[in-house]
Amino acid sequence: MNSESLNDLLAFDRRHLWHPYTSLENPTPVYAVESGSGCILTMGDGRELVDGMSSWWSAVHGYNNPKLNTALTTQIKSMSHVMFGGLTHAPAVELGRTLLKLVPESLNRIFYCDSGSVAVEVAMKMAMQYMHARGMHGRKQFATIRGGYHGDTFHGMSVCDPVNGMHSLYNGILPKYIFADRPKCAYTDEWDENDFESMARQVEIHHKSLCAIVLEPIVQGAGGMYFYHPLYLKAVRELCDRYDILLIADEIATGFGRTGKLFACEHAGVVPDILCVGKALTGGYMTLGAVIATAQVARVISEGEPGVLMHGPTFMANPLACSVARVSLELLIENNWSEQVATISTALQTGLAPCRALECVAEVRVLGAIGVVELKKSLDRESMIQIQHAFVEAGVWIRPFGKNVYIMPPYVISMDDLGILTDAIYWVLSAGDF
Ligand code: PMP
Repeated sequence: MNSESLNDLLAFDRRHLWHPYTSLENPTPVYAVESGSGCILTMGDGRELVDGMSSWWSAVHGYNNPKLNTALTTQIKSMSHVMFGGLTHAPAVELGRTLLKLVPESLNRIFYCDSGSVAVEVAMKMAMQYMHARGMHGRKQFATIRGGYHGDTFHGMSVCDPVNGMHSLYNGILPKYIFADRPKCAYTDEWDENDFESMARQVEIHHKSLCAIVLEPIVQGAGGMYFYHPLYLKAVRELCDRYDILLIADEIATGFGRTGKLFACEHAGVVPDILCVGKALTGGYMTLGAVIATAQVARVISEGEPGVLMHGPTFMANPLACSVARVSLELLIENNWSEQVATISTALQTGLAPCRALECVAEVRVLGAIGVVELKKSLDRESMIQIQHAFVEAGVWIRPFGKNVYIMPPYVISMDDLGILTDAIYWVLSAGDF
């Protein structure tokens, strides 16, 4: 891109386009990207950056993957989209077949939807309708853990952390659900049963009004990149069974291998009643969510009033998204995702270890292909601009938030490129005043 078009593009963007969680009037700078290939992003000014973000957990096979490209170009020649009401098609069915080979056997009723946030909405509706259909009309509440993140639509927001999610802003509009304390026992800590006290107490008090517990299994992502103890999740499953409450696992970020297991629930050996997936489902090519429920949930909803699930979006089961998702899932298996993730995990442990010695660093933690360097202080606006600039100058795309400088690279990253990412974190943090 020549410098005139680049400046033009940036000027229009700055004036007219909203970016996630930044002011429109006084936005933090954005960087123009022209193309992506493998793990490299080529910027508008010609610079090449190693991608550490997988476009927020999604681009697990990297960018511009020939097989994923072919899936889309082949599909586009027959149809890009068709309504799913009264019609079906091979891309939806074939993706369904592939998904069912990956998820636990008891989860086998699939609802395709537009995005992660919508998947959470659909899952919550399913749980409410399930209880309603059983005549339990008082069970419309949800319980969750503080520190979670479940999307930006209203019901997703209602189970996001009330402080980070600024619930006070939506007072009177946002439903008020039940929050248990965030588990203190981290993934590698010794399990302490007291950690479950808050959740156990909340559910004991409120179980007659609860239809489901919604949570991110093991990894709380956007709410702080925190890894909690598998026995906490196991205890949640047992609590749900004891009180006849559904468990909704939001695996939108954790699904498809990112944590070292295909689904994070496997760390605790639990199976949810409703599973939400998105993000990496299409290899990061386009937006698609899926909500996968047990036959029991589907049967009860279908037998109750109104006999249908009250959701049916225009772009449900979009054939382009389904086609690319199926090939992306096949690629996971073909590429041996578990070996890829294990290799990345070991390299993250080694590569990020030196950061522990830095004055500004509170903790370094790694789970699967997620590496987190938690700082002692949150990055304010100015330090965010400064650190972002420093990472770009160092030839990497890493976008910290709050206290966390974190990476979750595409699974296809080479060890050389991964070394560039971890070295950049060390040098940028040691050179700046954070
Ligand atoms: N749940 C979780 C755990 C997520 O991480 C996200 C996205 N960051 C969502 C839901 C929402 O997904 P989307 O952005 O596709 O709506």
